Amino acid sequence: MSTSYRLGVLEGDGIGPEIVPASVEIATAAARAAGVTVDWVTLPLGATAIETHDTPVPEETKQALADLDGWFLGPHDSVGYPEPHKSALNPSGTLRKHFQLFANIRPAKSFPGAKAVCENADLVIVRENTEGFYADRNTYAGTGEFSPVEGVAIAMGIITRAATERVARVAFDLARSRRKKLTIVHKANVLKLTTGLFRTVCQEVAREYPDVRVDDFHIDAMTVHLVRRAQDFDVIVTENMFGDILSDLAGEISGSLGTAPSINASAGMAMAQASHGSAPDIAGQNVANPVAMILSGAMLFEWLGARHEDEAAARVAKIIEAGVAEAIASGISTRDLGGSASTTEFTAAVIKAVTAGAGQN
Ligand code: ATP
Repeated sequence: MSTSYRLGVLEGDGIGPEIVPASVEIATAAARAAGVTVDWVTLPLGATAIETHDTPVPEETKQALADLDGWFLGPHDSVGYPEPHKSALNPSGTLRKHFQLFANIRPAKSFPGAKAVCENADLVIVRENTEGFYADRNTYAGTGEFSPVEGVAIAMGIITRAATERVARVAFDLARSRRKKLTIVHKANVLKLTTGLFRTVCQEVAREYPDVRVDDFHIDAMTVHLVRRAQDFDVIVTENMFGDILSDLAGEISGSLGTAPSINASAGMAMAQASHGSAPDIAGQNVANPVAMILSGAMLFEWLGARHEDEAAARVAKIIEAGVAEAIASGISTRDLGGSASTTEFTAAVIKAVTAGAGQN
C-alpha cells in the first residue's frame, strides 16, 4: 500500500533557503525509497513574506498549514526584520502558539565519526512550548513583558498544571520507549511557585509510569551535569526558556548546533524545525550544516508514522537517519563538524547514501 502526505515547506531566513531545500530533496529521495508519496506545498514566511505580504506569517500560510499533514520550518532572522515585525512575536513562536504545538522535542545525539565534546551522548529534551518564562508567548492576548515607566521593565512567567501535565506525559511516554530515565529540570529553590509547580506536576505524572526512573535538577546545576556527563541522561523535561537554553548546550556538546534537530507537536500536528537559528553570519556561503534540518524532517516522518500507524512513514525517517550517519561516518562533513564539505556536497553525499541503501531498508 502506498501512503501519501501533504507537507508544507517554509524556507525562512538566513541559511533557511540553503538547508530547507536540502532537507526536502533528501526526504523526497527517502520517501521514494520507502514507497511514500509526498506532495510538497511551498508557503511564504519570514523576510520575503514581509516584502510580499507585509507580514512574516501571512494569513494564507496559516490557513494552508491547517490543511496539511505537517511542515518543514526554516529558521527566521526576526531581529533583522523592520519594525513593527521585529518587536512582534517571531514566526516560530507565532506558529507554535497558533497551532498549540505544546511539545518541543529536541534530541541531542553524537554521530560516530564526528568530533564532539561528548561522543556518546544520546538524550532528548522535551521543552514545554506554550507558557513558562517567554513572556512574548505565554499570554492569551498581548504580551507578558512590558515597561510601565521609562527605565523599568517587567516580565511575567506562567506555569499551569494542565500544560505541565500534557508535556510531562509526552516526556514519560518517550522515556518509556527509550532507556526509561527521566530528568525534571526546574529552579524550585527560587522560582518556588512556578517551577515548583512544574516539578510537582511532573512528579505526580511519574506515578503513572513506575517503570521510568525519575530524578530532578535545578537548571544551573543541570548545565554542569550536561557538560560533565551528558551520556548519563535519557529524557529531560523542562519549561520553555530553560529548555531552549539547555537544548542549545546539549546540541553543541553532542556535536554542533548544526546537528540538533527538533519537532514541535500537538496531538494532531507537527512542525519540523532545526534547534538552531538563522546563522546570518554564514548565510549564502554554502557552508551551513543541513543535518539539524534534515533530521528534523526525519522526526516529522517518525511522528507521522506513529500518528497514522504507518510503517512506511516510519521507514522514511530511518532511511534519512541512516543516510546522514553513513555520510558522516564516511568522513564527509561540514566545517562546524571539523570537515570541509559544502552544504550541497554534504547533501549530495546523503542522497547517494539514501539511494544506495534504499534496498536494505
Ligand atoms: P536564534 O536566537 O534565532 O536561535 P542564535 O542567536 O541562537 O539564533 P544561531 O543563528 O543559532 O544563533 O547561530 C549561533 C552560532 O551557531 C552561529 O555562529 C552560527 O553560525 C552557528 N550555527 C547555527 N546553525 C548552524 C548550522 N546549521 N551550521 C553551521 N553553523 C551553525
